[in-house]
Amino acid sequence: MSDTNLISRPGLIDPVPVPREVTPREDGRIDLIGLSRKRIGELFETAGLDPKAAKLRSRQVFHWLYHRGVTEFEAMTDIAKTMRPWLTERFVIGRPQIVEAQHSEDGTRKWLLRTDDGQDYEMVFIPDEARGTLCVSSQVGCTLNCRFCHTGTMRLVRNLTPGEIVGQVMLARDALGEWPKGSMAGLDDGADDDEDGGGYSPDGRLLTNIVMMGMGEPLYNFDNVRDALKLVMDGDGLALSKRRITLSTSGVVPMMARAGEEIGVNLAVSLHAVSKEVRDEIVPINRKYGLEELLAACAAYPGASNARRITFEYVMLKDKNDSDDDARELVRLLKQYKLPAKVNLIPFNPWPGAPYECSTPERVRRFSEIVFDGGISAPVRTPRGRDIDAACGQLKTSSQKLSRAELDRLAEEKQAALG
Ligand code: SAH
Ligand code: SF4
Repeated sequence: MSDTNLISRPGLIDPVPVPREVTPREDGRIDLIGLSRKRIGELFETAGLDPKAAKLRSRQVFHWLYHRGVTEFEAMTDIAKTMRPWLTERFVIGRPQIVEAQHSEDGTRKWLLRTDDGQDYEMVFIPDEARGTLCVSSQVGCTLNCRFCHTGTMRLVRNLTPGEIVGQVMLARDALGEWPKGSMAGLDDGADDDEDGGGYSPDGRLLTNIVMMGMGEPLYNFDNVRDALKLVMDGDGLALSKRRITLSTSGVVPMMARAGEEIGVNLAVSLHAVSKEVRDEIVPINRKYGLEELLAACAAYPGASNARRITFEYVMLKDKNDSDDDARELVRLLKQYKLPAKVNLIPFNPWPGAPYECSTPERVRRFSEIVFDGGISAPVRTPRGRDIDAACGQLKTSSQKLSRAELDRLAEEKQAALG
């Protein structure tokens, strides 16, 4: 694929992803999804509208796109009938293409999606009693090679664009039938539908939360993730509160402060180990940004407080990171850095050829107790959607070839077996 040639192949831990604003379409029209109000206005002006008209139209179109979720210009009832074909000739309202939709016995849903240039990626919806969480991807593949993660065995194919990222949330709203249906009354004063008599109550929504925990490392695609989440948080856009959005990073320390300042969502950190030796092995970015640096960046994360704790994710790997001492060291570290923290214990989800096993349930329980006794909440996350390979770390599109790292690993294992 010619696109991949543009990407400098990363070494083990030093990726240089290539930014891209919009994926070009064969028909030459421009997909508006993923673009800001301002950018849409600029495009309207370039296409021939005078500045005042461009500004007004961009506000109207923005509302229809992101707040109402319409997929045709014809549905934009406050835009003159003659103007709608003008829009249709030049622009499209895109959605990621759905290649496959799967439904787990436990209600979890997984979609395999395809970009306009034929790249596959995945998103997962996880409903439970209290909320419905959409797990959103930020990249096709991942440059990092965390050893327990299936996505990490893929090459990075490319970053997703803002449109492909926000498009996942929009597609989920399409699939769940959750776009507000009210009138346009709220547009002028910026009020949303909850007040305009649209009969839409946010409490009844299935999709309530978003986690950037799908494929990829969101902080290696910072600009696109930020721009997409801005649309999700915009009161006249998808209007989801930043308190309901969580960004998970494996520890891209230099980008963490900016994430707090420019995005401001909840932070989750994939910690997974408490010593340099083990973290170097299982989360190789640790060789670049070590534990101390990472925890210091967490302590400085803007907006973290006891009311808004940082989540530390910890995947339970048998005989690797799951001892009593590990649990005690985890508590000590979190206290040393005075972190408003909660710990999420994730039972390891196996995949074919994975080099680890999950800790026993007794071990996970004991680990959780020790952390809890240290004064830090440490619930065990129930694996969801295992029957459709939708659980944490299982996302990998089957069309992908093995990465160089995985080939090296397999070669090593073969050697060891032979020797
Ligand atoms: N790249 C980001 C976000 C995506 S991964 C990050 O690493 O934080 C989302 C979470 O799933 C991370 O905590 C990751 O470590 C965890 N995970 C990956 N593979 C897993 C597996 N096989 N079993 C359980 N959790 C896994
Ligand atoms: Fe990438 Fe996150 Fe998987 Fe690590 S755990 S390989 S950072 S997706």
